[in-house]
Amino acid sequence: MIKFEHVNKTFGDHPALIDINTEFKEHQTTVIVGPSGSGKSTLLRSLNLLERPENGQYHFNDLNIDFAKPLSNKTILTLRRKTGMVFQGYNLFPHLTVVKNVMEGPVQVLKQSSAAAQKNALELLAKVGLADKADAYPSQLSGGQQQRVAIARSLAMNPEYILLDEPTSALDPELEAGVLRVLLELAQEKDSMIIVTHNLEFARAVADKILFVENGKILFDGTPAEFFKQPTQRISEFLAAMT
Ligand code: ATP
Ligand code: MG
Repeated sequence: MIKFEHVNKTFGDHPALIDINTEFKEHQTTVIVGPSGSGKSTLLRSLNLLERPENGQYHFNDLNIDFAKPLSNKTILTLRRKTGMVFQGYNLFPHLTVVKNVMEGPVQVLKQSSAAAQKNALELLAKVGLADKADAYPSQLSGGQQQRVAIARSLAMNPEYILLDEPTSALDPELEAGVLRVLLELAQEKDSMIIVTHNLEFARAVADKILFVENGKILFDGTPAEFFKQPTQRISEFLAAMT
């Protein structure tokens, strides 16, 4: 389980996260929603230590971090490995085939044998619907297919949590559907995921829990049923503006 307690992060004099307290349970999908500039990416990136909050506590199972204290490189690496981030721009290696892209981390970082990594990579590519693209190069794939390779690549590293920041925002609607389908399947298989999205229909379908963030604060932390069926005045306004 991941837990944030009293976490604060400022950029210059701009508070991006203010007294964040929340939990991300294992085998659950949490969806983070909120207006642009509200702190969603900062929250997600703080979980991966791509951002460093000034203070607060970060608990990852029995690993306890005090953000006010210096972090060792070992702790940073350990946490990065436990939290696999899927980036928006895919960041695939252009000179490697799709299957080699998925094998790269397991072979180089986890020291898996090439044969074992390849077997696993092919299974993951089948899972994201790209078994037939294993030997293609990224430039030969659509944006949605590249994003699914990026998801497979993240899964190949066996993270305990998968973090996704607007995984479909760069995609046309017809390509978006394929990526969302893969994420729904992962959620049904009880992978632990934390997803930032503007797609409320998807949020409703996939989330075990919703966080609504505004001006750096969590204004709602609860179930999708509560979020959509009994919204506060502010959430009603947000939902109305999004549809
Ligand atoms: P969006 O929906 O547009 O992606 P967001 O909710 O992800 O927005 P963040 O990227 O977390 O928002 O940004 C939160 C606030 O922190 C914004 O006001 C933003 O301008 C500011 N901010 C984010 N990153 C930096 C940075 N590296 N330097 C300075 N300010 C930043
Ligand atoms: Mg963002």
